[in-house]
Amino acid sequence: PLLYLNGEFIPEDQARVSVMDRGFLFGDGVYEVIPAYAGLPFRLREHLDRLNNSLAAIRMTPPLDHEQWSQILHRLLQQRGSEDQQIYLQITRGAYGKRLHAIPEQVQPTLMAMASPINRRDPELVARGMSVITLEDIRWQRCDIKAITLLANILAQSQAREEGADEAILVRDGLANEGTASNLFMVKEGLVITPPKSTHLLPGITRDLVLELAMEDGIPYAEASISADELESADEIWITSSTKEVMPVTRLNGKPVANGLPGPMWERMDALYAACKERLRLRT
Ligand code: PMP
Repeated sequence: PLLYLNGEFIPEDQARVSVMDRGFLFGDGVYEVIPAYAGLPFRLREHLDRLNNSLAAIRMTPPLDHEQWSQILHRLLQQRGSEDQQIYLQITRGAYGKRLHAIPEQVQPTLMAMASPINRRDPELVARGMSVITLEDIRWQRCDIKAITLLANILAQSQAREEGADEAILVRDGLANEGTASNLFMVKEGLVITPPKSTHLLPGITRDLVLELAMEDGIPYAEASISADELESADEIWITSSTKEVMPVTRLNGKPVANGLPGPMWERMDALYAACKERLRLRT
């Protein structure tokens, strides 16, 4: 398959970037992961808006507009026809002659996008529910930027795996903000709760969609902070992301969440989410 690199479509195994690229040297860049169903990108405008917000936050001018990205992504997706796929898109500040912390004035950004078969949710895991642990959030203060620098997320995810869990919920000042690669939801007495947007979490596209679907379906919801303690008495816990969609969490720090089974509100939201994806498919 071909990927997009700096204005060209080239075979994936022939794509090369300079070792002087600031993405490589400093992790100086941002990214997006965009799911595509039936060959069509899902929530594309929202993803590209977030990309531009990430770029603005790191003082970069958007190198392409939405229409230009849309054309590139469609060409990438066409290669696998109507298969469900995911796009990985990355922009770094580019290669500069010297390794300098200061942002150089004259530097061409590196643009890359590739499509691959989607990391489909494991149906067994969906049925059983995920197991999570809480960990201290050691990331920086701008988690709202979708930066390629993910070491803290990687370390937390590895620790979760070592402890037999599937994901870590990151806790800062006693508040559970999000997962290493997902947003957090809790259900308590019929109310769906997710932490408000802040610099301590990524404004997830799936998070916003879940709130939108809750509103449309008349499900009571609130954006309110969730303490790590409150999480222990939740009726349901979910995590969301573009590839995981809405996943039930049935174990927290080794203990069952409520009765230890995916809850009825999760089932309802998962069905609403599936219906929303289906609406995209029918547009073909
Ligand atoms: N938080 C973090 C830290 C993430 O990496 C992700 C996944 N990219 C999310 C939340 C979920 O975001 P989205 O729903 O846009 O995939």
